[in-house]
Amino acid sequence: MKALIADDDLALRFIMQKMLEGWGFEPVIASDGEEALKLMQDSDEAPRLLLLDWEMPKINGLDLCKALREDENNDPPYIILVTGHAEAEYIQTALDAGANDFISKPTNSGVLRARIGVGLRTLELQRRLNIANHMLAYRANHDDLTGLRNRGAVVEQLESELARAQRYHSELSIAILDIDFFKKVNDTYGHPVGDRVLREFADRLRDTFRPYDTVGRYGGEEFIVVCPIEAQKSFELFERFRKVIEETPFLANDLAIDLTVSGGVRTFSGEEVNDAKGILSLLADADAALYRAKHSGRNTVCMVNHSSTPFPEHEHQSSGQKTG
Ligand code: GH3
Ligand code: MG
Ligand code: MG
Ligand code: MG
Repeated sequence: MKALIADDDLALRFIMQKMLEGWGFEPVIASDGEEALKLMQDSDEAPRLLLLDWEMPKINGLDLCKALREDENNDPPYIILVTGHAEAEYIQTALDAGANDFISKPTNSGVLRARIGVGLRTLELQRRLNIANHMLAYRANHDDLTGLRNRGAVVEQLESELARAQRYHSELSIAILDIDFFKKVNDTYGHPVGDRVLREFADRLRDTFRPYDTVGRYGGEEFIVVCPIEAQKSFELFERFRKVIEETPFLANDLAIDLTVSGGVRTFSGEEVNDAKGILSLLADADAALYRAKHSGRNTVCMVNHSSTPFPEHEHQSSGQKTG
C-alpha cells in the first residue's frame, strides 16, 4: 500500500521512509507541500495514507490538508499531521483543518506505527462502507430477477432523455411491452419456470436494443424501453422485437415455450408542445396503445404518434399471428 511522506527535512524523510518500508508500505516522497498536492491530484491511484509535515515550503501541511479536504469524495485520504508543535491549540487547529490525527516530532516509531494502524482500520471501514453503498445504490435501481433497471430508475432516465429531446429537438420512443398470456406459463410450468422465462425475455431485450436505449422492468411481465429514435423508424424497431419473441421459443434447450408480446409505443418529438404533457401522460399514452394491442388480439405493436408525424396510427399496427 502506498503512503505519502511530505517533509522538507531530508533526514526525517529518510527515517520515515525506512520505517514505512519496514512495515510493508510503498512510500511516495514529496519535499514540499506543492509537490505533495500535485502528486495527490495527478495520480490515478493516489496514496490514501498521508504523513504531512506542518512546516514545509510553498504550501504548509495545514493548508495542504485544507486543500485536500476541499475535494469532497467518498474516498478521502487518512491524514496524519506531523509537527514539532505539541501545544493544545496546534492540535486543535490541525484537527479542525481536516487532519485525522496529529503526531509530534521527534516521532516515536512505536507510536507512529500504532497511529498508522488506526488509520488503516479507518480506511478499511471506509472501503467497506463504499462497497456497501455501491451495492445499495445498484439494488435501489435494478430489478433483482432480471438485472434490468427498475421502474423508478427508468422513469428517472426518461426525465433526462425527454429533456435532451427537447433541447436538441430530437425524437424519442417510449414503449411498454407486455408478455401475452404469461399467467399461463406460471400455471402450466410453475413460477420458477416463469422466472426463467422473464430472465430470458430480459436477455433478448438486452440483445435487441442498443446501449444508448434504456431498457427496464416496468413490473411483473411488463417491460419498458426508451429509444432516442425517429418515429418513422420506431415501429420497425419494436416490430422486429415482437418477431424475436414470436419466432424463437423460450427455454428451447429444455421446454421450448412459445410466447408472444404486445407493445404500446408513444413517440415524442422535442418540438412537441409539452406544457401539460408530463412523463406520466406519455406513459399513459403508451399504456393506452398497449391496451389496444391486447384488445386487437395481442402479438401486436400499436403506436401513438406525436402530432407532427404524418402517418396515422392505425397504419402502424402489426398483424402478427394472433394467439390465445
Ligand atoms: P395478458 O396477455 O393480458 O397480459 O395476460 P397475462 O397472463 O400475461 O397477464 P396477467 O396480468 O393476467 O398475468 C400476469 C402474470 O405475471 C401474473 C403474475 O403471477 C405473473 N408474474 C408477475 N411477476 C412475476 C414474476 O416475477 N415471476 C413470475 N414467475 N411470474 C410473475
Ligand atoms: Mg518541515
Ligand atoms: Mg401485464
Ligand atoms: Mg401479460
